[in-house]
Amino acid sequence: MGNFINTQAPLVNAPFLIDKRLKTLALARLYSYIKAKVSYEEAMSDPVWNDCRDCIKEKIPSGEFDLWINPLQAKTEQGKLALYAPNQFVLEHINNHYLNTIRQTLASLQCPLDPVLKKGSINEPQCTTPSIKKEPKAAQKRNITPEFTFDNFVEGETNRFAKAAAMQAANLVETSGLGNPNPLFFYGSVGLGKTHLMHAIGNAVLKKDPSKKILYTHSESFVNQMIHALQRNTMDAFKREIRSADILMIDDTQFFIRKERSQEELFHTFNDYYSKNQQIILASDVHPKRLQGLQERLKSRFSWGLTVGIDPPDLETRSAIIISKTNAMGFDIPNEAALFIANSIQSNVRELEGALKKVVAHAQFTQQPITLSLVKMALHDLLMAHAQLVTIDSIQQTVAKYYNLKRNEMLSKRRNIALARPRQIAMYLCKKLTNKSLPEIGESFGGRDHTTVLHAFRKITDLISSDADIHDDIQQIKELLSY
Ligand code: ADP
Ligand code: MG
Repeated sequence: MGNFINTQAPLVNAPFLIDKRLKTLALARLYSYIKAKVSYEEAMSDPVWNDCRDCIKEKIPSGEFDLWINPLQAKTEQGKLALYAPNQFVLEHINNHYLNTIRQTLASLQCPLDPVLKKGSINEPQCTTPSIKKEPKAAQKRNITPEFTFDNFVEGETNRFAKAAAMQAANLVETSGLGNPNPLFFYGSVGLGKTHLMHAIGNAVLKKDPSKKILYTHSESFVNQMIHALQRNTMDAFKREIRSADILMIDDTQFFIRKERSQEELFHTFNDYYSKNQQIILASDVHPKRLQGLQERLKSRFSWGLTVGIDPPDLETRSAIIISKTNAMGFDIPNEAALFIANSIQSNVRELEGALKKVVAHAQFTQQPITLSLVKMALHDLLMAHAQLVTIDSIQQTVAKYYNLKRNEMLSKRRNIALARPRQIAMYLCKKLTNKSLPEIGESFGGRDHTTVLHAFRKITDLISSDADIHDDIQQIKELLSY
């Protein structure tokens, strides 16, 4: 799951476009933003919330922070700190997992405000939700985000099969439920659309048959709810609840690693759905076989149906995604500007979305159309940071760490495969991710010749398509490099 929760609506409906008074305020904040060189988001948000958010950032993993806390907008209203979640799904997740942390953090900052969760954005609250218990029960169980559909999932070489498999699953579930590959397992690095596809299946099924019960849950939430049930002696109710749907979707199954008791429960849940011929859809960051720390019986079950990998999108697909997302926000973007962003950010779609939001914010502030020069200006800092992040040095360190080697060993002249392969991978990544020349790379690898680097590059390029382990290793190393 990712930036989908950062719905772009708030940007489109920025206050200064609507209300003159707020426009002045926004411009004043923009001015402080330019002067203080703080980010757009900081300039626009509530100061109490800024402090609180900074403290929470120290307390929870950065991925969780980016995913859940960062998208919240805050506003002081009637003696309370109103926190706006972009949709019901996020609202419930915050309510279940972070509201206490937020409350405690505010208290530790001596802030007398009580947090209250609302749905929508500061500019356009959709509805106030005093108690999420008032939501209709079925909607609560579904947890399906309506924004994630097949229509707005841009297809390319690297995700075509995954999308087709997802659409097929949605159709088969709707017709008979029989003959479908079960489970359907999506795997791939973060931000490539696994969660989007799961929700798209949910939306497609519900469109045809709103009575279908779909249970989408993040693995972390599964584990937390189970712990809760164990503490309160309500395991029977938990089991009934988790087994009561027509379709079970469990996201980011890597969270089950080393959680034995949860794995046990997952195992029985899986068997229950499977034996009733009900669709199970799973997602994880790696192939099920590579989920080290997961029981063998689960790994094998996860591979019973169809396992589909998603790779980072190619340049053209990235451009198409940018154009589609920009249009969805109500803006036009020329091809050359989309290509520039796509070329600069190659890792995952979530990062592309982050960059795009910056671009749109600049377009709104300056009230200019999006052009190549506007994009370059808007992304200047981001691209500088990116370029500084990935260096020969950082690649060598990251690769050595990934393979549990000392960097000196990896750079040594020794030729055994356990050292030579990581060395070649590091050379490959240096060629791929930095602007350094082959001789410069060779020099940094213990004074090797440029032909050695070229050989390594070709060798690894071949292995990526023939050896799934090498392919997955490289994806993960790139992720560690935040590339
Ligand atoms: P994952 O679950 O693989 O980490 P997500 O499904 O959360 O990734 O996707 C991250 C963001 O990128 C979401 O906002 C999603 O809508 C978007 N996204 C990913 N792939 C595509 C695509 N092919 N077309 C459109 N949007 C995409
Ligand atoms: Mg996900």
